[in-house]
Amino acid sequence: MGDSEQTTAASEETLDPADWDAARALVTRVAGEAVDHLRDIRSRPVWRDMPPEIRTRLATKVPHRPTPLEDVVREVFGTAMAYPMGNTHPRFWAWYMGAGNLTGALGEFLAAVQGSNLGGGNHAAARMDDQVVGWLKEMVNFPSEASGTLTSGGSMANLIGLTVARNVMAGVDVRAEGIGALPQPLRFYASDQVHGCHFKAVEGLGLGRKALRLIPTTEDFRIDLTALRTAIAEDRAAGLKPACIIGTAGTVNVGAIDDLNALADLAAVEGMWFHIDGCIGALIAIAPVNAPLVTGLERADSIAMDPHKWLHAPFEAGCALIRDSAAHRDSFAHSAEYLQGASRGLAAAPWLHDLGPQTSRGFRALKVWMALKEHGVTKFGRLIDQNIAQAKYLADLINQTPELELAAPTCINIVCFRHLPKVGMSAEDLKRWNVEIMLRLQEEGIAVFSDTTLNGRHCLRVAITNHRTRRADLDLLVKEILAVAMRDRWPV
Ligand SMILES: *Cc1c(COP(=O)(O)O)cnc(C)c1O
Repeated sequence: MGDSEQTTAASEETLDPADWDAARALVTRVAGEAVDHLRDIRSRPVWRDMPPEIRTRLATKVPHRPTPLEDVVREVFGTAMAYPMGNTHPRFWAWYMGAGNLTGALGEFLAAVQGSNLGGGNHAAARMDDQVVGWLKEMVNFPSEASGTLTSGGSMANLIGLTVARNVMAGVDVRAEGIGALPQPLRFYASDQVHGCHFKAVEGLGLGRKALRLIPTTEDFRIDLTALRTAIAEDRAAGLKPACIIGTAGTVNVGAIDDLNALADLAAVEGMWFHIDGCIGALIAIAPVNAPLVTGLERADSIAMDPHKWLHAPFEAGCALIRDSAAHRDSFAHSAEYLQGASRGLAAAPWLHDLGPQTSRGFRALKVWMALKEHGVTKFGRLIDQNIAQAKYLADLINQTPELELAAPTCINIVCFRHLPKVGMSAEDLKRWNVEIMLRLQEEGIAVFSDTTLNGRHCLRVAITNHRTRRADLDLLVKEILAVAMRDRWPV
C-alpha cells in the first residue's frame, strides 16, 4: 500500500464492527439473553420503581468517547431491560396495550438489519407492507380494492381516516384552500366514550374541538342513536354540515361496541362519512366465538385498527383502512420533483408515503407478517376469544365476592369494578381507597391495572389484552386485592 492510500484508510471510518466474528459472538449471546428474558418473565415483578442510581445513569450527558459494545449492552440490561413498563408480563392489564411476542421482536431486529425505508419503492419489503395491509383488510372483511397504510398506532390511523373524511366532505379543495374556505363548518359525531386521539385529530385538522360533537351513551355505554339523530338534525338546521359519524368498536373505558350497522345505515341516509375506531375491537372479527359482536365493521368508509394491541406486535404498529382508494391517495399524495416514479428500477412502484403524512417509514410490516405466518390468523382469533372468556371469568369472580362490585357490564375484555371496604363511605373516600389498592399492587409488583371514571363514579379497570394471562393470574388478582384490603383496613 502506498503512503497516500494508507492515509485514506486511516481517515475513513465506518460504524461496522472491526471484528465480525467477535460481533457475531456478542449478538448471539445477547439474543440468547433476550430469549431468556421473555422465558423468565413470570418470575419477575410486573413493575418496580427505578432506584435513584438508575435515574442518575439515565440522565447523563451525551457520550463523546467510545464504550465497548459489550459494556453498552450490559448497561441496557441493567437499565431498560431491568425496569420495563411491564406490559409483556402476564399480570399487566393497565390502559390498553398488547403483550408483544418473541417472533415480532425478531422481526424488528431483521427489519432493522434489512434496513429498507418503507416510504416505498420497488423492493420486497414494500410488497410485504402491501401484503400485511391486504391481510388486515381480509381480517375485517374489507374489499381488496380498498386502500390502507400501516401507521405508528391507532392515533395516527384515526387521524388519517378523519383527514380523508374531512377532505371528501369539505365541499371545497381543502388541501389547496385550507379550512378557511369551507362553505359550512363541518361537524363530526362520536359517543362521549370516544378515545382522546379524536380530539387531537380534529384540532390538528384545523376544525376545532367543537367540531367533534359528543353524543350521550345508553346504560351499556353505546352511542345513543336517538340523541345522535337529534344532534345531526339540530346542526343541519343551524347551518352546519354534518360530515362524519365516528363509531367505536370497543370503547377504551369499558369495551362497549356501538351498533355499527345502525350507524352505517344512518350515515348512508344522511350522506355522511362513516369512520370506525376499531383500535380495540376491529380484530374481534377474526375471533370465532365473538366475531358477531362487530358485524357492520365491513360497512365503514374508514377503519382505524391497532396490530400492537390484539395482534401483540411489538410497538409500534397501527393501520388505517380507507374503502375509497382514490380518496385516500387524494388526501396525501404529493408529487415532489425529488421523488419521481420511474417505469423501471427501484422507483417503479407507487410510493407508500402517498398514503399518509410520513415520508420515511419503518419496516413495521415484518414483525406482523412473521407472527401471522408462524401462528396463522386462526390462533390470533382464538387468543382474542380467550381474553374475552378470561374477562367474563374475572367478572364472575367479582360477582361471587361480596366486597367487590362490578361497575359496568363486561362486554369484551375490559372489567370495571371497585372494592367496597364498608357501607356508607363517601365517593371520595372510596376513590382514595381503590386508588390505594391499585398502587399497592403495582408497588408490590403483583399486578398492574388502571382506573377510570364512569358516569362520575371512580372504578378500577382491568383490560386483558394479553396472551400470557392465565385464569390463575385472575384468581391471584382477586386474592391479593382482598389481602391488601385485609392488611390495611380502612382508613389507610
Ligand atoms: C389505543 C386506542 C387508540 C389510540 O391508539 P394508539 O395505538 O395508542 O395510538 C385509539 N382509540 C382506541 C379506542 C384505543 O383503544
